[in-house]
Amino acid sequence: MNTATLEPVLRAALGERVRCDADSLAMYGRDWTRNFPVAPAAVVLPESTEEVVRLVQLARAHGFGIVPSGGRTGLSGGAVAPNGEVVLSLARMNKVLSFDPADRLVRCQAGLVTGELQAYAASQGLFYPVDFASSGSSCIGGNIATNAGGIKVIRYGLTRDWVAGLKVVTGAGEVLELNRGLVKNNTGYDFRHLFIGSEGTLGVIVEADIRLARTPPPQAVLVVGVPAFEDVLNVLAAFTGELDISAFEFFSELALQKVMARHGHARPFADPAAFYALIEVDEASSEQAMAVFERCVEQGWISDGVMSQSLTQAKTLWRLREDISESLSHETPFKNDISVRVGRIPQFLDEATRLIHRAYPEFEVVWFGHIGDGNLHLNILKPAALATDLFFERCGKVSLDLFAMIDRHGGSISAEHGVGMLKKPYLEYSRSAADIALMRGVKGLFDPDGVMNPGKLIDA
Ligand SMILES: Cc1cc2nc3c(=O)[nH]c(=O)nc-3n(C[C@H](O)[C@H](O)[C@H](O)COP(=O)(O)OP(=O)(O)OC[C@H]3O[C@@H](n4cnc5c(N)ncnc54)[C@H](O)[C@@H]3O)c2cc1C
Repeated sequence: MNTATLEPVLRAALGERVRCDADSLAMYGRDWTRNFPVAPAAVVLPESTEEVVRLVQLARAHGFGIVPSGGRTGLSGGAVAPNGEVVLSLARMNKVLSFDPADRLVRCQAGLVTGELQAYAASQGLFYPVDFASSGSSCIGGNIATNAGGIKVIRYGLTRDWVAGLKVVTGAGEVLELNRGLVKNNTGYDFRHLFIGSEGTLGVIVEADIRLARTPPPQAVLVVGVPAFEDVLNVLAAFTGELDISAFEFFSELALQKVMARHGHARPFADPAAFYALIEVDEASSEQAMAVFERCVEQGWISDGVMSQSLTQAKTLWRLREDISESLSHETPFKNDISVRVGRIPQFLDEATRLIHRAYPEFEVVWFGHIGDGNLHLNILKPAALATDLFFERCGKVSLDLFAMIDRHGGSISAEHGVGMLKKPYLEYSRSAADIALMRGVKGLFDPDGVMNPGKLIDA
């Protein structure tokens, strides 16, 4: 629908919550992706569940689509409004509502920024462990809708593991309280888990009960150089075999060079290596970690390394990994966020590297990721002289071979960023026809008129 038709309808029902100025449409109509058209008809910023219900009812009555929007840091086009939809931003529903220390549960609104939940947890002497480079902007609702992972999954799991309850407005306009923060609730289908990772296609998450963890002891960070990729996994096995690690990330020398060039960070140690692993351990286990490190050096798996001696140094080392996505963003990367089981990584990576060298001999290819979870981020960078549409077209063709390879290795074409519009055409590489048909059926139940995030994840 267009702005001229919708604006009076929306204003009559939602007054000053409605924005139709060009700047708002451009800002709220997109996420971090840059390869989709952006054309919302309006933006609505509700302040209550009742206003969300009113908007869903209007959408059903007038036949417009709703795009739920959190921090718009998504990387799959899930929060993009390409076709006259109304963006429903949760930005004004951003409060902590209550805290229950006995259950270690925070009740918050979906628009609460992830970093603010982390800070709130710290103010209660507790810890919210889901963390990644975009935590300062992303929102809890967006994290839940994408089942966000991040850098601590190896120890703490995904967003799903911390969601104890949800309040949602379905695409039918019904308000559901899902699980009520309970640990035990064996009363049939748990719809909470359907909404986690549903990418706004079933309804709007308006509130969440989030469980908090005990504050971890101080952490130390090691960055080690690994000359041969297959040895990254030997290093992983050596550390996880002896220690409870809280992160195991990897990045290539090219990724490091991009971060150093963009942010002015120093090289972690003098001699470059083909790959690096960043390992986080309890500071109290530093000596044990050093012993594992030395054994890895003796084996020839690690060429050099550095361990943080202070919190400041630990934070500086983390920047080498955390700043990679941002460092690449101005080079129009074609992003792949893929996973296979950890044990399959060497074989998969060997085949994938050969495919990529054959397909993109002249492109820069940057590997990094949460390798401790089997999650690899493969970024192909656009040569400056190549037109963007030609670049994406070429990458799209190669994706078919890559996704077929992922399927053969039993992996996933979207490890943690979601499907959105970016991966929708390729969903069949990770989900069977029967799976997709059931997803459509589920969507039809929660969103009978197809108003929720149309064109994302699956076609209705
Ligand atoms: C630099 C950078 C690093 C990143 N690192 C990671 C990482 O390590 N791990 C990871 O998992 N992701 C990562 N991401 C991706 C992104 O931050 C996550 O997907 C995040 O969870 C998105 O949250 P958001 O609030 O920005 O959601 P948005 O981008 O606003 O929306 C994402 C999806 O959720 C839906 N949605 C949003 N709010 C709601 C709601 N209240 N109800 C229903 N649906 C809703 C949207 O419609 C959309 O489909 C990174 C992104 C950037 C830019």
